[in-house]
Amino acid sequence: MDYQATLERIHNALKPVIGQGKVASYIPELANVPPEQFGMAVVELDGTVHSVGDAQVRFSIQSVSKLFALTLAFQREGDSLWARVGREPSGNPFNSLVQLERESGIPRNPFINAGALVITDILASRFTAAETATSSFLSRVSARPDVTYNARVAQSERQTSSRNAAMAHFMKSFGNLHNRVGDVLDAYCRTCAIEMSCVDLARAVGFLVNRGVNPWNNETVLDASSTKRLSALMLTCGTYDAAGDFAFRVGLPAKSGVGGGIVAILPGECGICVWSPALEETGNSYAGSLALEMFTTFTGKSIF
Ligand code: GLN
Repeated sequence: MDYQATLERIHNALKPVIGQGKVASYIPELANVPPEQFGMAVVELDGTVHSVGDAQVRFSIQSVSKLFALTLAFQREGDSLWARVGREPSGNPFNSLVQLERESGIPRNPFINAGALVITDILASRFTAAETATSSFLSRVSARPDVTYNARVAQSERQTSSRNAAMAHFMKSFGNLHNRVGDVLDAYCRTCAIEMSCVDLARAVGFLVNRGVNPWNNETVLDASSTKRLSALMLTCGTYDAAGDFAFRVGLPAKSGVGGGIVAILPGECGICVWSPALEETGNSYAGSLALEMFTTFTGKSIF
């Protein structure tokens, strides 16, 4: 399969629409990111990298971090995790509060903000700093020693995090948040502000592509069954309330973030990451979603 030629074909086809949509502006620092950027990378299991455009530029991974925080929490807690967070698509925006009251402070899934706050709380109970646990984990799985967060972006989000704070307090009232709300929010915002490139992230999902084994150092991250479960969650919940449409159009497990990144896996073959900061209404990258749709159409490869 000539992935390089496929990426170039996608990049050319998308040139007229790159920049269409809106960059996330509710996090003030993200509003300054120029929208007309586009990068895409494919990393095969033998380590071969294919890339186009801005694939080496580091961007704010935002909710893509939820995938790695969850992996770490699942690795430590096992199935007892599911007593505190569900695994159903929410059908609601990623920052919605509406289901929390009816469902007694148990978020629908770990990929919406409420769910990720619970995951951060779990990590905060197990590690000295939840954000460092996740960035170190990302370093290991991406084989890149210097994964860190952007302090300005973290602070910018923290200062405007009333909505996430509301969720966290609400869950605490139900006993589903054990650490101090302020500490969980600090760690959550820092984790969202981690910066990585498409190449880094396409490499970082190698363990999901490879049935739970990190292909870059042969360490077992998750067993095959847990890998299957996380991949299923990506497919059903990874792109917020657009997950059904995304599965329909793309047919790959994926996780997106409001920084405009989307990471996807083709099990047994490759990790894929696309980044373009302008978003569609659901908070997924507009050009990024189209790029992944083209990827499965042009290659004829998906999980189906
Ligand atoms: N940091 C963002 C928030 O909490 C993450 C959301 C996202 O990427 N969907 O709102």
